Amino acid sequence: MAGEPQDDCLFCKIVDGSIPATIVRETGTTIAFRDINPQAPTHVLVIPKAHHRDAAALAAAAPELAADVLRETQAVADEEKLESYRIVFNTGSGAGQTVWHAHAHVLGGRGLDWPPG
Ligand code: AMP
Ligand code: ZN
Repeated sequence: MAGEPQDDCLFCKIVDGSIPATIVRETGTTIAFRDINPQAPTHVLVIPKAHHRDAAALAAAAPELAADVLRETQAVADEEKLESYRIVFNTGSGAGQTVWHAHAHVLGGRGLDWPPG
């Protein structure tokens, strides 16, 4: 069910502490942690603690929680002293989504090309 922890979800396991992560920020509703395979000097993932399969499902089911995630991307950028950065929500396997728990990638610390690959 939307919002409930999923036994087979990697990021739910990071939320419950059974899989370790390098956590950089935590609020009542969100966690931000470093990506295990960074694509930029700063590459942090911001997730809602509640399980939603992707950004669109999150926004539809829990818009205030989606706003919490967005607010935290800015907080991460501030802490990492990023003047420019990119927020990415890969949505669907064709766009590179591999973990089915909504997450914002916060990428920065280097030049970022546009359009992305
Ligand atoms: P996506 O491909 O958009 O679904 O993003 C999933 C991201 O999770 C990838 O960038 C992975 O490198 C990252 N990732 C996978 N496992 C872990 C982990 N245990 N800790 C931190 N990041 C992870
Ligand atoms: Zn999950």
